[in-house]
Amino acid sequence: MTMDIEYDTQPKASHYVDGAYLEDDAGEVIEVIYPATGAVIGRVHQATDGVIEKAVAAARRAQAEWAKVSPRERGRILTRAAQIMRERNRPLSVLETYDTGKPLQETLVADATSGADALEYFGGIAAGLTGEHIPLGEDWAYTMREPLGVCAGIGAWNYPTQIACWKAAPALACGNAMIFKPSETTPLCALKVAEILTEAGLPDGLFQVLQGMGPVGAALSTHPGIDKVSLTGSVPTGQKVYAAAAGELKHVTMELGGKSPMLVFNDADLDDAVGGAILGNFYSSGQICSNGTRVFVQKGLKDRFVERLQERLEGAVIGDPLDEATNFGPMVSQRQMEIVQGYLEKGVAEGARLVTGGKRLDQDGFWLTPAIFDGVTDEMTIAREEIFGPVLSVFEFETEEEGIARANDTPFGLSAGVFTRDISRAHRVIGELQAGTCFINSYNDAPVEMPFGGVKMSGVGRENAKAAIEHYSQVKSVYVRMGRVEAPF
Ligand code: NAD
Repeated sequence: MTMDIEYDTQPKASHYVDGAYLEDDAGEVIEVIYPATGAVIGRVHQATDGVIEKAVAAARRAQAEWAKVSPRERGRILTRAAQIMRERNRPLSVLETYDTGKPLQETLVADATSGADALEYFGGIAAGLTGEHIPLGEDWAYTMREPLGVCAGIGAWNYPTQIACWKAAPALACGNAMIFKPSETTPLCALKVAEILTEAGLPDGLFQVLQGMGPVGAALSTHPGIDKVSLTGSVPTGQKVYAAAAGELKHVTMELGGKSPMLVFNDADLDDAVGGAILGNFYSSGQICSNGTRVFVQKGLKDRFVERLQERLEGAVIGDPLDEATNFGPMVSQRQMEIVQGYLEKGVAEGARLVTGGKRLDQDGFWLTPAIFDGVTDEMTIAREEIFGPVLSVFEFETEEEGIARANDTPFGLSAGVFTRDISRAHRVIGELQAGTCFINSYNDAPVEMPFGGVKMSGVGRENAKAAIEHYSQVKSVYVRMGRVEAPF
């Protein structure tokens, strides 16, 4: 057991290349800041061109060999890594809390554990990834599922360990190499994922970590040695990366932002719906892409809903994220806090009623209290733009058709939820909602067994489940003629 490990917030070196830590202090310094206090707890350097080239060369060499390893053996390594990750859940979670500011109460159950789930799932299915036999009379054909080659993963800052594993696990199971660039805001935990994969027996060069800001992500997106780019980030970044990757027709997965609707009908269980709205707006201080930030409540229930929501917000324990009793932490950064404050001001200025919250706490760190807006209308800025913070907007609607039309009136399409006791309506409404990941009488569940991703501007491709395999492998078709070849001349 490795329960007594304690990770230092200053990594041994910035990058993890070809199976070992690597430093190049010529790269610009990136400070690691603990969001709860604003203190600098580590420093890393942005990857230089030399480091990027070294990583790509190592990945290409390693991937050629890895593609020949039996899928069962690949799977065994991933499963071993999952086990190590579970054994180290606590130190990994503490480090994740320092990196993101998310309460330990959350990181203990939602970060390394989710990463381990992905490693275990894709480790488990690796050996079953087979092609097809296609009978054609006398002749026949078969298909083979081949790796794409070297994949680049570019991460957001809200779930650093999870994002690294959700990308690495299917990539590695399919025989690819992965070069992962964490968000510059949260550079720490991906390095631990790399250490664990090495310890589990992953050959050098197959999972590498490069630190850096946008330009390092951009360099990976256009590098001729990279075959696929998987981004988790905002829509504007997604548009840039998708366009850059198009230059060489690289494969892409885009997990982008959202402005997801949650529809609560008069017949819903009030406390379940309120619970769903809390999970879908305030977990991780609202910094979750799939959040149901537009809460449409039917007229007959709306006032009681807002009242109950406000009561239940009193259960928020805001404080030291390392104290396991805390269930609401700071924003990830000064910048993100200021963005959210800007939206709070706009909400009030445009006429929404701030029921509670949205206050800056008078202490170091990036603290905002959870906010509820009532009386929000569809054209307000807070109704249209992704805020990515603890701001819930309540809208009132009357009929099912109206609710659906207003819910769909957005360029985003990541998630959607419906709360009702009417089973037919639940499925009918979900069938009409334009979103990739939906919930009935629940919100924000993300088990690895279920595909995750968006439609419209929220993304391209899917992560998790068997669906992810389609995005980390390509099919080769082989026609086999059994008789003579007949040619016209
Ligand atoms: P961001 O778009 O600012 O950055 C994401 C990543 O892209 C970072 O690693 C960043 O360094 C990199 N990047 C920036 N410019 C780049 C460029 N030109 N080329 C290549 N890479 C570049 O997003 P963020 O602020 O880190 O995260 C918040 C956003 O991510 C929100 O919009 C949120 O909805 C989204 N998100 C989506 C999901 C999902 O699965 N759909 C999950 C989490 C977060």
